[in-house]
Amino acid sequence: MANLKLQQLTKVYNKNEIAVKDFNLDIKDKEFIVFVGPSGCGKSTILRMVAGLEDITHGELFIDNQKMNDVSSKDRDIAMVFQNYALYPHMTVYQNMAFGLKMRKQTKTEIERRVNEAAAILGLKPFLHRKPAALSGGQRQRVALGRAIVRDANVFLMDEPLSSLDAKLRVQMRSEIISLHSRLQTTTIYVTHDQTEAMTMATRLVVLNHGQIQQIGTPKEVYEQP
Ligand code: ADP
Ligand code: ADP
Repeated sequence: MANLKLQQLTKVYNKNEIAVKDFNLDIKDKEFIVFVGPSGCGKSTILRMVAGLEDITHGELFIDNQKMNDVSSKDRDIAMVFQNYALYPHMTVYQNMAFGLKMRKQTKTEIERRVNEAAAILGLKPFLHRKPAALSGGQRQRVALGRAIVRDANVFLMDEPLSSLDAKLRVQMRSEIISLHSRLQTTTIYVTHDQTEAMTMATRLVVLNHGQIQQIGTPKEVYEQP
């Protein structure tokens, strides 16, 4: 369960480069919000501020009415999936998925339960002992998703998670992520520059331009506007 409130969120890099300006957005529990817009419009910056990986210059971020600005990244109940997977090459699939839980001092039994459950959902059970180099692109992306799922976080942030996959796999993983969301119902912000992804995946779509909201609504509302 998580509601997010982004209030007048602003990011200024190097004292005068405004990347995000007075960005306001209320995200309701279970929503799948997609940020779409050209490269450089501020999508990743907003995601990183929500994740706590980037300081907020002005404005406020609330999760379930709690102000998060000064809460460190590791204390936010958020799991993030990146474009380049960021898997550890020397670890097996199991160890990659277990790593974040180990860091958070979960018991071995709990780690095994969660990793096996996520592996079952994602079809990764046969690959648990393999290293990332021995996996296909789609399987690696599933491991990256698995690492987020095992955290059992209240918020998912996904930054162009499919953009390094080929077109066919992208379409397949798109529907896998949609069914994952209908199953887990985790509040999600998904960043892409791909309009088809935005249109097919979003419950609500935010079109960004120069760090501000240009359009917002359901995919139908946004794409049918003149
Ligand atoms: P997007 O994700 O939409 O491509 P970004 O959030 O990455 O956009 O970037 C928004 C703007 O902020 C761009 O002008 C980019 O050059 C700038 N920017 C992003 N990260 C940094 C950084 N670490 N230092 C300085 N400028 C940055
Ligand atoms: P290593 O080969 O270095 O032991 P593994 O990935 O095989 O690395 O396993 C690391 C730990 O996780 C081991 O303690 C192992 O028992 C446990 N483990 C690995 N795979 C599973 C699994 N499918 N279910 C439960 N525990 C597992």
